[in-house]
Amino acid sequence: MKTHEVENQVPPLADVNLYGGDAALREAVAGAGGAWGTDDLEAFGQLVGSAEMQEHARLANENRPTLQVFDRLGHRINAVEFHPSYHALMATSMGHGLHSQPWTDERQGAMAVRAAKSFLMTQVEAGHGCPITMTFASVPALKHQPDLAEIWLPRVTATEYDPRNLPADQKTACTVGMAMTEKQGGSDVRANTTRAHVQDDGTFRLVGHKWFCSAPMCDIFLTLAYETDDQLSCFLVPRWTPDGQPNAMNLQRLKDKIGDRSNASSEIEYDQAWAVRVGEAGRGVRTIIEMVQHTRIDCIVASSGIMRHGLSQAIHHADHRAVFGKRLLEQPLMQNVLADLALEVEAATALAFRLVRAFQAGATDEHAASFARIGTAVAKYYVCKRAPQVVYEAMECLGGNGYVEEHVMARLYRQAPLNSIWEGSGNVICLDVLRAMGREPEAMAALREELVAASGTDPRYDAFLAGLEVEFRDVATLESRALRLVERLALALQASILLREDGGAIAEAFVASRLVERHGTYGTLPTGAPVELLIERAHPLRS
Ligand SMILES: Cc1cc2nc3c(=O)[nH]c(=O)nc-3n(C[C@H](O)[C@H](O)[C@H](O)COP(=O)(O)OP(=O)(O)OC[C@H]3O[C@@H](n4cnc5c(N)ncnc54)[C@H](O)[C@@H]3O)c2cc1C
Repeated sequence: MKTHEVENQVPPLADVNLYGGDAALREAVAGAGGAWGTDDLEAFGQLVGSAEMQEHARLANENRPTLQVFDRLGHRINAVEFHPSYHALMATSMGHGLHSQPWTDERQGAMAVRAAKSFLMTQVEAGHGCPITMTFASVPALKHQPDLAEIWLPRVTATEYDPRNLPADQKTACTVGMAMTEKQGGSDVRANTTRAHVQDDGTFRLVGHKWFCSAPMCDIFLTLAYETDDQLSCFLVPRWTPDGQPNAMNLQRLKDKIGDRSNASSEIEYDQAWAVRVGEAGRGVRTIIEMVQHTRIDCIVASSGIMRHGLSQAIHHADHRAVFGKRLLEQPLMQNVLADLALEVEAATALAFRLVRAFQAGATDEHAASFARIGTAVAKYYVCKRAPQVVYEAMECLGGNGYVEEHVMARLYRQAPLNSIWEGSGNVICLDVLRAMGREPEAMAALREELVAASGTDPRYDAFLAGLEVEFRDVATLESRALRLVERLALALQASILLREDGGAIAEAFVASRLVERHGTYGTLPTGAPVELLIERAHPLRS
């Protein structure tokens, strides 16, 4: 520069080990039985924390996917073209089993190791995580139909990413999408109008549309359609028909989204698309909900990862940037903000991996499955809802440098609200919690047991739980109070886990700042809160 030296600017946070630098994550993984995966996770943390992966993430988002409806000669091809960096991200995720590990690795804790990889990968690039998570989540739903599972599970769990638009039997691995939402309704899938017409051979032809179909280059899609006026069923729609013809699933256009830009979300039309049913006739919601339940746990893990990323950027910035003659990290008010954010991330991470543990155990233990069922809804609501606030506050820690497109914060900020909107928007999830309470007494009992397990550890926690019990008494007004109730259930759940697993200063700070006093902004931890401990544990280069 001719006129001045460039000073007091913060170097990029790159070439760091995202796993090695995350004490809360390492503890959560160990608690969920994944300690045996440490070497793998350290290596993965180093890989995805590299400047090279960050560059792939930037390029995959700045060069948005484009729709190629027709080829040069006018044939309909229904293809989406991605930047090579998108493919590099997909190949990395699939190569490390983010879409499949718990289904192929029988070790107890595989679900936790895989969730940790998702948590880490989200911090690099979240958009490509959509087809990865849908592929992962499709497996329990596909198992409803053993003949289809036999054909598709080996392809869906294979790890050699293959982006070619070819019939599945010519590919090294296949990915799975999900198409439920229609123009007239997404939350209320019973309002679907797509029809499935049965053929003489027992297969179906689908006629209708879907308003959101992310990752339309997947090889197969699970979708909902009515086969009679009152039988909404789940169907598998392959990109190519069994006789090797392109299926009549026509891409109409790609969504122009505010974020999640690397991920091609599309509108599609089924024009006599070939399909086979998955599961029983009329049980479509029941079948696809298995998939939704697994995408919801991924939303919780991913939102925790998004918050963790914002926090890392904020701490890194504060560690380098001096204001009024002192580094921000040394200034008491900034310490309070960072520590408060770190506490949010600690609690979100602990809750996410507690649920991952319940998912694992739920395969053989009904009680754990019941807890996973209701706990996932509670956490999906609360953790995903917190992410935009956390990211915004982290952005403000960077001052004006956080509010420019060149910084990754812009991408993070646009991505942050999505997990709350899809896979059950906030209100819908809270109503789902009420529904589970009403119809599934075993789920409520499992949740209560989890909460009561921490009783007696802190009188303020006991008082909070007692207050919560009272709030459930007035059944007539439950619906209008659902957000408040589920938020309080989530806070109690987080406190219960921290009190039992940490039991020290972090749990104490959580109870004091979330259950007793509660403020609308971050940086409001009470005097005496362990700010240094929280920041030190969260420091991406030191923890
Ligand atoms: C980027 C992106 C990608 C997506 N990808 C896919 C995909 O691949 N496949 C797919 O099937 N869908 C996908 N979706 C769609 C998504 O799942 C839906 O948008 C979501 O389920 C909400 O449905 P809706 O948009 O129709 O909103 P609506 O159902 O109209 O809901 C609007 C609002 O009303 C609230 N609400 C609904 N019912 C009630 C009630 N009874 N009481 C109070 N409030 C209520 C909801 O919480 C929401 O806030 C995607 C969405 C986005 C944004």
